[in-house]
Amino acid sequence: MVPKQSEIDHCLYDIKLWYKNNWPLCGFCGHLVRDNGDLAHLIRRSYSRELQTNKLNLVLCHRHCHDIFDESPEKAQYLPRMTEVMYIIYLLDKEYFNQLAERMPELHPAFELFPDVRSDISDIKHHGELITLQYLHK
Ligand SMILES: [Zn+2]
Repeated sequence: MVPKQSEIDHCLYDIKLWYKNNWPLCGFCGHLVRDNGDLAHLIRRSYSRELQTNKLNLVLCHRHCHDIFDESPEKAQYLPRMTEVMYIIYLLDKEYFNQLAERMPELHPAFELFPDVRSDISDIKHHGELITLQYLHK
C-alpha cells in the first residue's frame, strides 16, 4: 500500500522534531542548526520512494548546506561530514552511491576503504551515531 502524502509529511515532521530535540547538528557540516533548519534526504525522493521516510536517509541541516549538497556534488565533497554522509548512502543503496561518488573525486581514497569499516557501524539509526570516519583519510 502506498502511504498518503499527509502520512509521509507527518512522519517527516516527527523525524525533524526528533533531530531538533536529540541531535540538532547539521548533517553536512556538523555545526548547530539554530534556526528551524531543513530536513534533507540523502538519497533523493525522486530516486527512492521507499527511503523517503527512513530516518537514516534524513538529516537535519542548514539550508545553505542542503543547497550545496543537492546542487553541486563537486562542491559538496568538501563539506566536513561528507565522508559520513556518503557512507550512509553506501549502506542504503550501492548503485546511487556509485553515481554520486563519481562526482566526488577528492573523497575516492576514503570511499575505497568503506568495505573495511567495522561492520557493527552498519546498524546505525541516524547520522549522529556515526561520529567520524576521518580516520579513513591518510
Ligand atoms: Zn551546515
